[in-house]
Amino acid sequence: MTQSVNTARIEVLGNALLSAMEAMRIAPDRALRIFAEHGIARPEKTAWYPFQGVLGAYRDILKQIGPNTMRAVGRNIPKNAEFPPDLRTVEQALQSLDTAYHMNHRGPGHIGGYRYESTGPRSARMVCDNPYPCPMDEGLVESLADRFRPKDSFFIRLQHDAASCRERGDAACAYLIAW
Ligand SMILES: [Zn+2]
Repeated sequence: MTQSVNTARIEVLGNALLSAMEAMRIAPDRALRIFAEHGIARPEKTAWYPFQGVLGAYRDILKQIGPNTMRAVGRNIPKNAEFPPDLRTVEQALQSLDTAYHMNHRGPGHIGGYRYESTGPRSARMVCDNPYPCPMDEGLVESLADRFRPKDSFFIRLQHDAASCRERGDAACAYLIAW
C-alpha cells in the first residue's frame, strides 16, 4: 500500500545536495542558477535544507531544460557517490538506495523511499514513492544498476511500468530492471 508523501516538512542533507549539484555539470550555469533562485547556493555538508526548495528547483529544471537533462542528472549521481565497500551486486546496490535516501532525508511520518522487489535471478522491480521527479529516479536507478552490473552482462534494461507514474499525479513509479 503506497501512501502519498507530504513534502512540506521533509528536509534534505546538504551532502546530498552537493552531489546533486555536482551532477548538474551537464547544464551547470542554468541548473545552478535555478538552485540559487530556490535559496540553495552553497549548501553545507552537514546542514539540513527544506526539501520543497530542492523540489522546486528540480521542477523548474524539468520544465525549463527538459526530462533528458533530468535523467542525465540522475545518471550522474551514482558516478560521484561513495559506496560502502561491501556492496557487490546489482541487488545489493538497488537495495541500499532506500537506506541512502533515509540517511539524507528526514521528516515526520512517511517520507517515501525506494522499494526493491526481486522478480527473477537477473531482474527486479523498483518502486519509488519518494517526491523526486520520475526522470531523475529513472536515470539514478539505471546508472546505479549499471555500476554494479556483472561482467557477463552487457547492459541494463530499464522499463517504466506503465501502470502508474508520479508525473501523472500517482503516488509511485515502478521501474522494471533486467541485467
Ligand atoms: Zn514515472
